[in-house]
Amino acid sequence: MDHKRYVLALDQGTTSTRAILFDFVESTVVASHQLNHKQHFPQAGWVEHDPLEILRNARLCIAAVCHQAETKGISPLKDIQCLGLTNQRETVVAWDRTTGQPLHPAIVWQDTRTRDLCAALTTVSETSASLETKPASLRASRKGGSKSPIRKRQRGSSAVTDHGVDRFREITGLPISTYFSGTKYKWLIENVPQVRKGIEDGTVLLGTIDSWLAYHLTEERVHITDVTNASRSLLMDLRSHHWHGQLLDIFGVPKEALPVIRSSAERYGTLTSTECALDGRIPLAGILGDQHAAMLGQACLRTDDVKCTYGTGCFLMLHTGEKRIHSRHGLLTAPAYQLGRDQPVLYALEGSVAIAGAGLEWLREQLCLIRDIQEVEPLARSVPDTGDVYLVPAFNGLFAPRWRADARGVLVGMTQFTNRAHIARAMLEQVCFQTTEVIEAALADLGQETSALQMLRVDGGMTANKLLLQLQADLLGVPVVRPQIVEATALGAAAAAALATGVLRRVDQVRELWREDLVFTPSISDMERSTTAPALE
Ligand code: ADP
Repeated sequence: MDHKRYVLALDQGTTSTRAILFDFVESTVVASHQLNHKQHFPQAGWVEHDPLEILRNARLCIAAVCHQAETKGISPLKDIQCLGLTNQRETVVAWDRTTGQPLHPAIVWQDTRTRDLCAALTTVSETSASLETKPASLRASRKGGSKSPIRKRQRGSSAVTDHGVDRFREITGLPISTYFSGTKYKWLIENVPQVRKGIEDGTVLLGTIDSWLAYHLTEERVHITDVTNASRSLLMDLRSHHWHGQLLDIFGVPKEALPVIRSSAERYGTLTSTECALDGRIPLAGILGDQHAAMLGQACLRTDDVKCTYGTGCFLMLHTGEKRIHSRHGLLTAPAYQLGRDQPVLYALEGSVAIAGAGLEWLREQLCLIRDIQEVEPLARSVPDTGDVYLVPAFNGLFAPRWRADARGVLVGMTQFTNRAHIARAMLEQVCFQTTEVIEAALADLGQETSALQMLRVDGGMTANKLLLQLQADLLGVPVVRPQIVEATALGAAAAAALATGVLRRVDQVRELWREDLVFTPSISDMERSTTAPALE
């Protein structure tokens, strides 16, 4: 693969956008560029991004990386083989099919404006059983039927059953939560007149950030998403990997406005020349949600491989192979990835912690306890423990495994002895406690003990913090391994594109790209661990 070594990744995250050029022969990063975008908080619980700012940043990052490559004697046009795209999941955009202009700011995954919609969805008058058996007839009724989302919700069996948040879990693998994209689409259609009208006229396209970027970055203006992104909508059938007709009806989202669901590794289109200087020859050939990309970039290729990405939030995924395991312990069932149209969809159990790095940002922005995120590690190390202080920053509720939208943050155990170092340390510890709880839930679903894990592969911005990784190893009792390329998300997107274009021939070649850098081994006894663990209770 010597002459085919350079693969570009675009990683569109919650706080920033990065383009990274990888050398797949040397397994190194050749060039990278990152731009932050603004976080908008128009009301309590609302979080928005500007889709045009994100698109602009994506183009600028690609252009900057191409420029850096040129200064290293790499010709972007001749040498870059393909682009893999990975993105913050569940964040939605509505745009005009003709002009390409967004009709509303992007609603970000953290946004909780659909809380009432979610509560209503847990008690509508249809049973889970009817949901599974009736899609064809309901699909047929969609065509001539009213487009009112509200009326649609009232169709179906009259038996009122309350399956609570797990009403759609059998079909989608997900509990009903503000987290997922489906209710955000529903909110846009019901609350933004331009979107509602556009839906009626067939002029609006809906999609997550991958769809938004793929539409604008390709010559063909493809309207697509991949199976991993689609699976986070509460609208995709986890068995068929198609949009689920009856769920579309219940949510009032027409299929025509949604992107086509494709695999995570195939040629979707070619990049436009606009601002990219790439002249429409380079294929967009990989798309994965960020956590799924990290799974691949961490070379989690086999059943029971597990990775955790510590970024704004914290995301754990455990590979379950071709088995879809329905969690009985509050986790999500998700596709890990599908590496090619003819390849099987592989699955994972997933648990997310809403506030990880975001907690440190809160210490900086709201409490002014630190000036810089880098200060956290020396500050937290300046005390031997938290002095019995515990912090649970459930600012927008708790995700896995508890799914409590009504939970709020607590800081307990303070005395006059407590200082900012204890609080900073408690903020790091809470990430590890919650991650441990999620891992224990995943293993409980598999009927295994924590000791069954060989290691936890870690990546993400927070893994710059070595104290965090040592605390995690101690609490979990399992080695925590950070690879040389911590940009696992971007690497995974690049690897998917490389597989689709023949730069990589076999999936197991991804293992050659993954190299161990730091290993944190547990340094406390099982006894100490068992007395530390109940802190979250
Ligand atoms: P995302 O992809 O979600 O935008 P990143 O993987 O870029 O996130 O990680 C960003 C997060 O990493 C920020 O919330 C920041 O607080 C955290 N972070 C960065 N450096 C450090 C550090 N040295 N110690 C702890 N956390 C850090």
